[in-house]
Amino acid sequence: MRSVGLTNPHRMTLLVLRDANQPVKQIQVSKPLVMAVPLIALLSISGLIVSLQLQHNQTTRTLEELLQSQSLKFEAVVTDKNEAIQKLQNEVISLSSQSKEMMERMERVAELEAELQKFIDKYGGQGELGKLSALTIEEDDSFGLGGEFIAVHDNEIEQLAQETRDNYLEMSAMLDEMEKNVPITLRKAKQTQYSISGTPSEWPTLSKRLTSNFGYRTDPFKGSAAFHAGIDIAGKVGDPVYAAGAGKVINTDRDGSHGKYIVIEHPGGLQTWYLHLSSIDVSTGDTVTKGESIGKLGNTGRSTGPHLHFEIVKQGKQINPLPYLEQ
Ligand SMILES: [Zn+2]
Repeated sequence: MRSVGLTNPHRMTLLVLRDANQPVKQIQVSKPLVMAVPLIALLSISGLIVSLQLQHNQTTRTLEELLQSQSLKFEAVVTDKNEAIQKLQNEVISLSSQSKEMMERMERVAELEAELQKFIDKYGGQGELGKLSALTIEEDDSFGLGGEFIAVHDNEIEQLAQETRDNYLEMSAMLDEMEKNVPITLRKAKQTQYSISGTPSEWPTLSKRLTSNFGYRTDPFKGSAAFHAGIDIAGKVGDPVYAAGAGKVINTDRDGSHGKYIVIEHPGGLQTWYLHLSSIDVSTGDTVTKGESIGKLGNTGRSTGPHLHFEIVKQGKQINPLPYLEQ
């Protein structure tokens, strides 16, 4: 080791004191080194601070990124929710218009039924079979098409949903009513159709006492076998005689054999003949309905007592009328 004087201005001597029994150790170091040590320490601390700062910045950035991505996620969720709400709103609107359309259709059906009822009342009115209740629907024109776009508020949608619910309840009530009434109306319609139909079926007088049947019999005048082309119903002179079916009077006349008589032609092609009348209350060309009074029972022509001789003629030939008549 080189010997260095204390006077050397570029060197410094460091005395290291350990234990009392041990010798003092001298370490000679150069002055710049001594100066450099605190500087290096300072730099190290600065570096540490800078590094910490950087690390802090990095953490902040990461947190920021995390927050941003979360925020984006939330935004996406909110967008999804908004879309879902929009979809629901559209569905409510569509349902509402469907329910309105359905109400209108049901109203039309109810109108048709009422019309049918009116028809039955006019042509078929046979006793009370229950009146149809008035089925009315309030008009609601809130759903036109086109026009400007007006944003829909949540409370409006709620109201719409409520109205739709009410509509469905009303429709359900109407359907109940229809279910109850339609079969009754149908039955009445069938009766009406039957009563205005051309098929003769109505028993033609008050009395139901058959005195002579259709077919071969002993002739009441000659006492020999003869063909009886109709049925004889005994009754009182002046009893009403009814048209057995709807149709058109094609002949009213009198002769020695038939007495006073009426011939009605029915839409189906059948004819009904009413013989031995005391009076004729219709004229040729008249239209009659089933059960309408057309004349009075009598004893005119080739007759042995007051009775109605009734015939049904099919394609120019007399047939047995009994199978046709309600008894
Ligand atoms: Zn007869």
